[in-house]
Amino acid sequence: MRVKCVLCDKIEAINDESLTAKRLRNRPIHTYMCKECCERITEKTNARISTGNFRFYRPTSEVEEW
Ligand SMILES: [Zn+2]
Repeated sequence: MRVKCVLCDKIEAINDESLTAKRLRNRPIHTYMCKECCERITEKTNARISTGNFRFYRPTSEVEEW
């Protein structure tokens, strides 16, 4: 299936049988992040944690678990 990254709008093809594809199909709101964005977010998150100011906060149920 083809998916679009919510952050950079890049279209990627992912395996229909992959966990990501199944997860996207099972959810009404399709959010997909490409590998690059996912890594970028992870780096940012880790950087914020290291400052000591980071609070784990999930604003909506739309946030995917990765
Ligand atoms: Zn992206």
